[in-house]
Amino acid sequence: MSSTIEQKCLEQGVKMTDNRRLVAKVLSNSSDHPDVEEVYSRCAEINPNIGIATVYRALKVFEEYNVIAKHDFGNTGKARYEVIDEDDHHDHLVDITTDTVHEFFNEELEKLKEKIARDMGFEIVDHRLDLYCRPLKKK
Ligand SMILES: [Zn+2]
Repeated sequence: MSSTIEQKCLEQGVKMTDNRRLVAKVLSNSSDHPDVEEVYSRCAEINPNIGIATVYRALKVFEEYNVIAKHDFGNTGKARYEVIDEDDHHDHLVDITTDTVHEFFNEELEKLKEKIARDMGFEIVDHRLDLYCRPLKKK
């Protein structure tokens, strides 16, 4: 079965090589917002011949064609990637003590974002919200 990334790339006329297919597959199977090095090491487990530059370029192409999202979670200085799913909008909570990214969705918050934009005379075309957090101290 081909990944959604591959599907979307083909629809937009992006050339898919075996390596790009591998990067697409690895990303589709990752839900933890990996950075370039993590994507690379997961690819290399399957094909040890793949180079990090190839992975990097593939990610860049996927990003350009809007099939993956690049996040600059400010804490680590490393870009992290995830597959874009139009039916699954979510925001992120980053645990700065472990660099773990949690996803959340809150209907009220989404409505509030729209209201803020509307009140200021705008409509939202894209939005993201990242919360940087540390765990509450246990009492
Ligand atoms: Zn996410």
